[in-house]
Amino acid sequence: MKGTVPMKPIKYLRFRLTCLYTITTGTILTLALSCFLLLSMEEARQDRLDRFYATWNSLTYHLASDSMVSQSYLAQTEVYSRSVIHIEENGVPLFFQGSWFPATSRQNLIVKAKEQAGAQGVFTSTAPVSSSSSSTTLLTINGENQDQYYAMILVLPYKKSLRSLCLISYRPPVLQTLKKTLFILLAAGFLSILCLLFFSWHFVGWSLRPVEESQRKQAEFIAAASHELRSPLAVLRSGAAAILSSPDKRELLQKTMDSECARMSRLIDDMLLLASADAKTWEVRFQKTDMDTLLIETYEAFLPACAEKQICLELDLPEYPLPSILADPHRIRQILSVLLDNAVSYTPAGRKIQIRAFARRESKGHRYFPRSKSASGQLVLQVADQGRGIPDDQKSRIFDRFYRVDKARCDKTHFGLGLSIARELAALHKGTVTVEDNPGGGSCFLVILPVCVN
Ligand code: ADP
Repeated sequence: MKGTVPMKPIKYLRFRLTCLYTITTGTILTLALSCFLLLSMEEARQDRLDRFYATWNSLTYHLASDSMVSQSYLAQTEVYSRSVIHIEENGVPLFFQGSWFPATSRQNLIVKAKEQAGAQGVFTSTAPVSSSSSSTTLLTINGENQDQYYAMILVLPYKKSLRSLCLISYRPPVLQTLKKTLFILLAAGFLSILCLLFFSWHFVGWSLRPVEESQRKQAEFIAAASHELRSPLAVLRSGAAAILSSPDKRELLQKTMDSECARMSRLIDDMLLLASADAKTWEVRFQKTDMDTLLIETYEAFLPACAEKQICLELDLPEYPLPSILADPHRIRQILSVLLDNAVSYTPAGRKIQIRAFARRESKGHRYFPRSKSASGQLVLQVADQGRGIPDDQKSRIFDRFYRVDKARCDKTHFGLGLSIARELAALHKGTVTVEDNPGGGSCFLVILPVCVN
């Protein structure tokens, strides 16, 4: 039987999901960083403009109020604000050499600024006609070396003369201003995408693990089920052939074939039960269940089988009535039947099987019998036998599907599905099934069910 597990698609799926997450999150991150960069660029541009207006206001104030504008003040302002300051009185430039030198010559820039001012009707050698002063709007000047400037020109009458101010401020490319920010953003974006890739790969792998696990279990289940079904089918085929060749053995062969058919249908029933547990389509009819009655009925049902194998079966109930639980009595009986059936199978003649039950608070070991209406706790059912016991390293594995401790020694009626069915049934009641060693030898199975008395 080939039980190949299709792991490749899972790996491919992991790769695709990782790419998808990284691309999606990376795109969102890039958009966020771009927005941040655009905002920073706008802020830098605004900051540059604010500084230009601050210099402009300070200069125009000095020009309108002082008879002499000091050369040192002009020199300091030029360097500080990276500007060209050009002042004329009655069309004659102030004798000021300038202390800051732009990439394009000062003279060229002043000429360009004057040209643009002229286009707006502002001339540095002509007094304004209608108002006391006239100024241009904000001008943008392109230099000769891809350099850019903000500029403004003001013409104002001062005493009996005419003064003009031309301020040309360097406007650095925004990206150059943000060079450091841009570098940090690029590095952060690159690192984030690397981290995303790393974490996506691990998280996707982690979240796909249950899928991988269930795929593996499914493949194992199919392999084991096919294996189990093959032997009754082989018996049926050889039986059919034997009937044809020796009709005198017909009755005996028919019996064998009947028992194999019954075995096969039991296996199919068990498999269907587990399949519906996996698909969560189990039909459960919860009702208030009197556990004392249920346990006595189950005990009585197993007495004949125990008597046949000369095993002593005991039922140990507390003096007080057990609390009723909300359960499907048919399913609880099914759980107990699996445990008792195993106990009978694995206990030799002359030994004892005990069914015990008690209620307790959730903390282990404290037994009590709920009387008050608000009480809640656990109902513990135990099936203890004096059989061969279960080795410690097998205790958790016996609940796996088709798992048997000693396959060679198991009789043909055991498929290794009973305990997995019991566990699923208990889980359906929010309970558990576990196993521990029986102090007197053998094993002791515990079914723990929640009790809620309303
Ligand atoms: P099976 O139908 O084979 O009994 P189960 O799932 O009920 O399948 O049990 C799985 C395996 O656990 C059994 O094959 C057996 O080896 C072991 N086992 C179960 N119950 C007992 C027990 N009471 N004593 C010893 N071994 C047990």
